Amino acid sequence: MADVAVVGAGPNGLAAAVVMARAGLDVHVYEAADAIGGGSRTRELMEPGYLYDVCSAVHPMALASPFFRDFELSRRIDLRVPEVQHGTPLDDGGAALAYQSLERTVLGLGVDGPAYRRLMEPLLARVTGVVDFTSNQLLRIPKDPLAALRFGLATLDQGTPLWGRRFREEAAPALLTGVMSHALGSQPALSSTGAGLLLSVLAHAGGWPVPVGGSMSIARAMADDLTAHGGTIHVGERVDSLEQIRPAKAVLLDVAPPTLARIGGTELPDNYRRALETFRFGNAACKVDFILSGPVPWLDPGLAMAGTVHVGGSRMAMAESENLVAMGKHPTDPYVLVSQPSLLDPTRAPEGRHVLWSYCHVPANSTVDMAEAVTARIERYAPGFRDVVVASQTTTAAQLAEYNENYVGGDFSAGILDLRGLVQRPVVSNVPWRTPLPGVYLCSSSTPPGPGVTGMPGYHAAKYALKDIFNVRVPGLGLEL
Ligand SMILES: Cc1cc2nc3c(=O)[nH]c(=O)nc-3n(C[C@H](O)[C@H](O)[C@H](O)COP(=O)(O)OP(=O)(O)OC[C@H]3O[C@@H](n4cnc5c(N)ncnc54)[C@H](O)[C@@H]3O)c2cc1C
Repeated sequence: MADVAVVGAGPNGLAAAVVMARAGLDVHVYEAADAIGGGSRTRELMEPGYLYDVCSAVHPMALASPFFRDFELSRRIDLRVPEVQHGTPLDDGGAALAYQSLERTVLGLGVDGPAYRRLMEPLLARVTGVVDFTSNQLLRIPKDPLAALRFGLATLDQGTPLWGRRFREEAAPALLTGVMSHALGSQPALSSTGAGLLLSVLAHAGGWPVPVGGSMSIARAMADDLTAHGGTIHVGERVDSLEQIRPAKAVLLDVAPPTLARIGGTELPDNYRRALETFRFGNAACKVDFILSGPVPWLDPGLAMAGTVHVGGSRMAMAESENLVAMGKHPTDPYVLVSQPSLLDPTRAPEGRHVLWSYCHVPANSTVDMAEAVTARIERYAPGFRDVVVASQTTTAAQLAEYNENYVGGDFSAGILDLRGLVQRPVVSNVPWRTPLPGVYLCSSSTPPGPGVTGMPGYHAAKYALKDIFNVRVPGLGLEL
């Protein structure tokens, strides 16, 4: 009889499985898809020789997440940090650029440089505390209260309609809103601002790396560690009921709340099951991947060195586009998130060629192909872009939902990211990873700290399962000598 069954081999299921296996337990992972990885899979794109990340591409948390730090991920895979962490092209042909060096960034932001520094410097000085605060559930006493206080004040500063107070020009606010808009929702908002500030400060800490070989390298590193510690992974095995895995003493589910409701069935108390069934999902993404015959001809040469580019114009233009999505509409000029992995990782495309990863936000369940809107948006800041496009492939929100059942309606955050959605994940509880069923835990990004390839929801769930069921502490996770 297996000690532990993990359902779902996304980054969180794998993180949970690694922790349990490292504690000496017999772990079996069941994945419905034909490959592990969930939101960190990399596949060949359109033609052989082109590798693209199906979902996640850029990984600030691969360096910063407490789980990945303990796991020593950066010693197991090759994480390449770009020269420019992220950039936002501006309507005057220039760009706002975030370098790892805060000082260099400040210099490039002109008159608003000092205001940007005053926002970032206090957070950067206590970055470990900021990461700790944002890597747990919010309803707890933070390890570093000063870091949490500074983070809260910065979030208030940039997350309300008074967000323009400290800036005089377009560049600095556009740089910040480019990052804040990662979190789906209307702008300005405290929740997306918090997420954006964390990512912004990480750009000036470890940076925003891309893994050589794609995001799959992260999943593979965890799967390799798991199997080296006796774990077994079964792909192509969907779990629909607890009966399928019941003999296990602990069950950790890397699934969406409605799936937990189905799997737990009538064994779950009615009120908890109802909370899972009515869990609120947010809007979605439409992904557009490109094969290029050369690099993107950005007007501003600084963007050619950027791992990530946020295309959307000024802060107000990005907010307008995001607010349209929040109202259930498709923007004609969408905010587009672009990653240029082949600038850093030559394994992604044949010599001289490039892959470009991009997505924009759309209403939930959208079947609209946004390829033309995305192409036009990039062309606006990179004239001649159309000429380097060899091929493109769209994954609509509806297709994303089909690809991964955790992304209900195409919501890749696995739950709405407003303030209520941050604390009610999936229910308000001081240990939201525990379910009312003894030995059954939820470990997906529908639990705190939420979306992103962080391993933290899996790590937290495993920590409680070890304590509750096996009376064991979290083991060491690092590379053995
Ligand atoms: C387009 C896009 C871009 C993104 N970009 C980034 C990025 O750049 N950086 C970043 O950090 N994050 C990014 N993300 C978010 C990130 O991918 C997710 O937050 C992360 O993958 C969540 O991990 P998870 O383990 O909770 O769930 P998932 O990765 O969704 O994995 C869940 C797994 O469980 C399996 N499963 C579900 N139900 C069952 C069942 N009943 N039986 C068996 N198996 C089941 C699924 O098949 C899946 O493999 C992006 C996501 C998308 C879609």
